[in-house]
Amino acid sequence: MSNPIIKLAGDMAMETSAKTPIGSTPVAAEPVLVGRGIVKELGQGAGKIVAVKGVDIELRSGELTLLMGPSGSGKTTLLSILGCILSPTKGTVSVAGTPTSGLSPERLATLRREHIGYIFQSYNLFPTLNALENVRIALDVAGIKGAKAIAQAKQALRDVGLGHKFESFPANLSGGEKQRVAVARAIASAPSIVLADEPTAALDSENGHGVMKLLAEIARSQNRSILVVTHDPRTLGYADRVIRIEDGLIVGEDNPKSPKQAAIDAVGEDIGEVHTSSKGGNDERVGGDVTPQPTAKRRRKVVDERQVKPLQTEDLNEMIRKRKSNA
Ligand code: ADP
Ligand code: MG
Repeated sequence: MSNPIIKLAGDMAMETSAKTPIGSTPVAAEPVLVGRGIVKELGQGAGKIVAVKGVDIELRSGELTLLMGPSGSGKTTLLSILGCILSPTKGTVSVAGTPTSGLSPERLATLRREHIGYIFQSYNLFPTLNALENVRIALDVAGIKGAKAIAQAKQALRDVGLGHKFESFPANLSGGEKQRVAVARAIASAPSIVLADEPTAALDSENGHGVMKLLAEIARSQNRSILVVTHDPRTLGYADRVIRIEDGLIVGEDNPKSPKQAAIDAVGEDIGEVHTSSKGGNDERVGGDVTPQPTAKRRRKVVDERQVKPLQTEDLNEMIRKRKSNA
């Protein structure tokens, strides 16, 4: 079955290839979302706490970044500040090159509408609207109306694999499907940034993996910057970057784990060969004839790695079972 996201990426890769003059030095992509020295105090008087204690963060296009930390570590607060929903007590945020400090509420709202899509743990769909209407309403707010809105909303739903569910109401959709509608709503107006707060927390294994795979595909093929804040380890295999937050501070950045390492960590020992998809690395669009340039190369590598089938809980359980029966 042809995947519109993959196709779009193929077109984009061709374009990049055609437009890069021979012999030119490619410049690394500018970060699309930048936070500097972010501090956020919450509460008042004796109950006052510092939820974010001085965070620097940069997010780039075409990457899925995880902000990972335990409950109460300040993830939602930081996401809200980066998403211009909450203003920082100290520090600055810059969205697509525009510093947000000093902007009027109206300008800030416009900046948000034009550049940022949001996804929440609880989907936040309107129960009385069908899938298509739920996506359209977000476009309406962004000033996109009529036939154009319908076409864009339908395309976004197709992009998330729900081309057959336009008329379905949230009550008749599974959790995974509801979250896909929420993803479609977030990407329908083609924002450069998508911010997701615990998007897999309410989902079972299969749907959690499905939503993460989708977000990773969208980041890479539509060249969006996606930030997922989470404490769900199932998200690890999908990220380009994993930033760790603890007690309001960034404490480090890890390389995303290989499926094998994730399995080792999950069971506490090396469990031998981890089976991956036989189609690993077979990605026509990215493996095609793209003009050599560092960013493209780096992305190609990441995408190739990502074609490896993420380890499923079922695979892990099966491996553990086999090990036990051999013991
Ligand atoms: P996370 O999303 O990582 O679970 P949060 O950003 O929601 O963390 O919260 C960080 C800290 O700020 C927590 O200690 C939380 O209790 C506190 N907090 C969150 N919102 C408020 C608020 N409105 N008033 C006071 N404290 C808050
Ligand atoms: Mg939270």
